[in-house]
Amino acid sequence: MPRDYAVEVRRRLPAAKKRIEPLIERLTAEHPDAKIALSFSSDVELLVAVMLSAQTTDVNVNRVTERLFRKYRRPEDYLAVPVEELEQDVFATGFYHQKTRSIRGAMQALAEEHEGRVPRSVEELVSLPGVGRKTANVVCAELGEAQGIVVDTHVRRLAQRLALTREGDPVKIERDLMRLVPREHWRLLPHLLIWHGRRVCDARRPACDRCVVADLCPSSRA
Ligand code: SF4
Repeated sequence: MPRDYAVEVRRRLPAAKKRIEPLIERLTAEHPDAKIALSFSSDVELLVAVMLSAQTTDVNVNRVTERLFRKYRRPEDYLAVPVEELEQDVFATGFYHQKTRSIRGAMQALAEEHEGRVPRSVEELVSLPGVGRKTANVVCAELGEAQGIVVDTHVRRLAQRLALTREGDPVKIERDLMRLVPREHWRLLPHLLIWHGRRVCDARRPACDRCVVADLCPSSRA
């Protein structure tokens, strides 16, 4: 889209505050199955799966955790084997040295300071070794009430294309979205943007011609 035209479209569209409700409504109708794609059956499994999901696909993580979670059930189980064994068990998710170090650090903190349970607040979660804000937000949203908005690569791209933010830094994007999006949607919004990003608004070739929010999107090429 030529730059002048993009600016003109942006000027004609209602402000983000007015577009956010219809955006959420339409994306909810379009992706009624939008939810976390990682498999887990306990809070510890959720935390480990999210930690393993950095720099790889959820499908790949699920393939690895299918075996992993049969072998490791409690935080202590991750500490009871030699480091090399755990590295081997998470090898296929990539960055296995770093991920093993982070998982062991977090599991040790859970065992020693949290009675083996995963805390429910972002503040406590980010104090665990190897747990960043994105991981903490995912865990909080799934285990209880979302306390922030998950910003991954899809959320970042779509928030920018839909002009919900002008920022590039995930922390600043999250801050903009938290101001804009009613709290009751904090949990769902990232799933909607992630699924829309995967299915329609591809990074390289967005399918604007079949996008249900094209008329609300200043980046539309339709
Ligand atoms: S109109 Fe195009 S750029 Fe905008 S959200 Fe839809 S697919 Fe993405």
